[in-house]
Amino acid sequence: MFKKKRILVYGAGVSGLGVAEVLLEQGASVYIYDAKECILPEKLVLAINEANGKIIWGEGFEHIADNIDVMVLSPGIAQDKPEVLYAKKIGKPVVSEIEIAAILNPGKLIAITGTNGKTTTTTLVGEMLKSLPNKIAVGGNIGQALSKQAQTLTDASDILVAEISSFQLESIDKFKPNICAILNITPDHLDRHKTLECYIKTKARIFENQHDDDFLILNYEDEQLRQLGETADSNIYYFSSERVLEVGAFVNDAGHLIFKDRESTVDFGHKDSLQIFGKHNIENVLAAVIIAYISGVKVEDIKNTLHSFKGVEHRIEFVASVNGVDYYNDSKATNPESTIKALEAFNQKVILLAGGYDKKTDLGLMMQIAKAKTNHLFLFGNAKERFAENALKYDVQNITIAASFEDAVNFASKIATKGDIVLLSPACSSYDRFKNYEQRGQYFKELVRNLLKK
Ligand code: ADP
Repeated sequence: MFKKKRILVYGAGVSGLGVAEVLLEQGASVYIYDAKECILPEKLVLAINEANGKIIWGEGFEHIADNIDVMVLSPGIAQDKPEVLYAKKIGKPVVSEIEIAAILNPGKLIAITGTNGKTTTTTLVGEMLKSLPNKIAVGGNIGQALSKQAQTLTDASDILVAEISSFQLESIDKFKPNICAILNITPDHLDRHKTLECYIKTKARIFENQHDDDFLILNYEDEQLRQLGETADSNIYYFSSERVLEVGAFVNDAGHLIFKDRESTVDFGHKDSLQIFGKHNIENVLAAVIIAYISGVKVEDIKNTLHSFKGVEHRIEFVASVNGVDYYNDSKATNPESTIKALEAFNQKVILLAGGYDKKTDLGLMMQIAKAKTNHLFLFGNAKERFAENALKYDVQNITIAASFEDAVNFASKIATKGDIVLLSPACSSYDRFKNYEQRGQYFKELVRNLLKK
């Protein structure tokens, strides 16, 4: 299908390089283009040359689509880039990397999106599906390019589980999941999607090609999602962490996780038997339970996975207990909504460490919750002044502006006493200081472990 096609991969990140390798293996002549020069693996450079492709770095290649057949976009490349606009103007197909994955996938496709909770839910679904005899591959926004994962599958009964971001949905065409879920939609990435409406529309594209034999899983408590549900042709199952539903997944009055459809009611055990906590994680679990159950995973196997799943690194991750103080790493909380979820997940007040690269998000609700749920707020990074102003406005008690990330951790450890919780949940990106949230979380864990040695 891609043999001898001249395919330009725009963006040399994880997904871009992944799909470039895949397309080369499929016999395409691959062009890689990025405004910023990167060092490519030698093997890839050789393969590109052998296939008569090209590697092009730098700005000013607006008409780059003249000599190619298809343009594949990495998630980081926005639709309004001049090269993309030009390619479309001259009628060249422009697709996202996940479209290539969907074309190559011989099996079933499960796709999970949402503003928050994607990685947790996708990982959990992947774990649950492992008990099936089918071959399972997990990818997308989560580590590996989805197209690379798709390529590992060979059979129509295989299953590709995909974590999908809104960026990846911008340029789909025939991408059609057999099962998909939208966990929630809150304002995020508005720098790229411009308005909340556009963002919602982009997320809704995940089910635009579904028919009535496909499944769409939605959060009942998100009004926007309920409205979207009305526009879908798919079979819909809702989940709710707040009410008992006639059909769908929910927590019953006794605290049990239940899935109910027209024929049966299944009990997946008490929510307190989960190792991940917080209402948001209950929502992730409910979505995962529906997906696994309708995919044919046995109830016992779903239950076993639920009981053993410890969550994903950097998401309210327990680090260590030092002198009776518990430290949690929630470095993945890069927006205020995530930090709110983390604060709400604890039954007691916490010492919160927040800040980093300022995305200029609205901090009102987060600070209202911080007032009720923190006993001290340590701020760091380039967002610290604006965070402090907002914290003062909402009367948050005990605010300290730290000179550095290290100081924030050290001061917090000094004022914390037995029984306290210290939580890193920054509500900001990490780019002012770290390569990414993973590096920030790793560093935090290192600082906490150093405290153990003192
Ligand atoms: P994503 O992959 O969408 O970024 P993750 O599973 O990595 O989501 O979780 C990132 C952060 O988002 C978590 O640390 C948590 O604070 C928050 N979060 C996770 N699940 C949910 C949810 N269902 N609703 C709201 N917030 C959530």
